[in-house]
Amino acid sequence: MPNSQTAPGSECLLCGNLAGNQILFELTRPIIRCAACGLVYASPIVGEGGDHDYTESYYRQGVYADYLSDREAIRRNAGRALKDLERLAPGGRTLLDVGCATGFFLEAARDKGWKVRGLEISEYASEYAREELRLDVESASITTLTRDYPKFDVITLWDTIEHLDRPDVALANARLMMRDKGVLVLSTGDYGSLLRRVSGKRWRLFADPTHNFFFDERTIKRLLSQMGYEIIRLMRRGKWVSLSMILHQSGLPPAVRDRGLLIARRWNPSLYVNLRDVMTVFARPVRTS
Ligand SMILES: [Zn+2]
Repeated sequence: MPNSQTAPGSECLLCGNLAGNQILFELTRPIIRCAACGLVYASPIVGEGGDHDYTESYYRQGVYADYLSDREAIRRNAGRALKDLERLAPGGRTLLDVGCATGFFLEAARDKGWKVRGLEISEYASEYAREELRLDVESASITTLTRDYPKFDVITLWDTIEHLDRPDVALANARLMMRDKGVLVLSTGDYGSLLRRVSGKRWRLFADPTHNFFFDERTIKRLLSQMGYEIIRLMRRGKWVSLSMILHQSGLPPAVRDRGLLIARRWNPSLYVNLRDVMTVFARPVRTS
């Protein structure tokens, strides 16, 4: 239950409201709910390049059990997303993945004939994408673009927007980098989901201390609309998840979990999981003329 403590000096990114915003609970930072629009966010917002530099340990022993072993699961999810994108952006061939991590989605898209580029602020992950996968990935953030880019047919942000300090700026920049008939797709956790409501502050999206924003259907739609997009589809679909990731997030006692992880190191199958707590949103830029 929300307590009665009022959040000091944390203005809502979505509606600018300052008055009456409540602290829902404390994690590594207080989690705030905007009294006016309902946006949920951590306060203070952590900027990119701050405490969280997404080093190798983030991907291998931190939030992820071992991100590199999730490659097969990510490629399976990519196959389905790329089919949707081929239908929604017919003739589209150029794709930018924002927050592309080690580039596994980009690798799958390239295999399907897309001309791909990526942005990733993690030096560790972007170097992996460049060196191991020979992908065109820049160590940069979409919120602080310093040069001109070509326009893309498709821009993707997979589980990225919740990490950003300025998701509004990111979406504005993405719009500038898109063709008029381009498609933007993003995925992010759903704060309004049943799973979040029953798991409270133990919800898995809260386990990543780099998450700044916890959108629900209403707030993500509002953000996209304010930044000049119209929603094509919003879905809560499942995805293939590696056994090691499932164990890592399971909340099992450490001894049990670690035994499972040892097995998963040799044999790490993907399982299809739909907890219905992630939204996938397809959107288009609203025409200005
Ligand atoms: Zn608000």
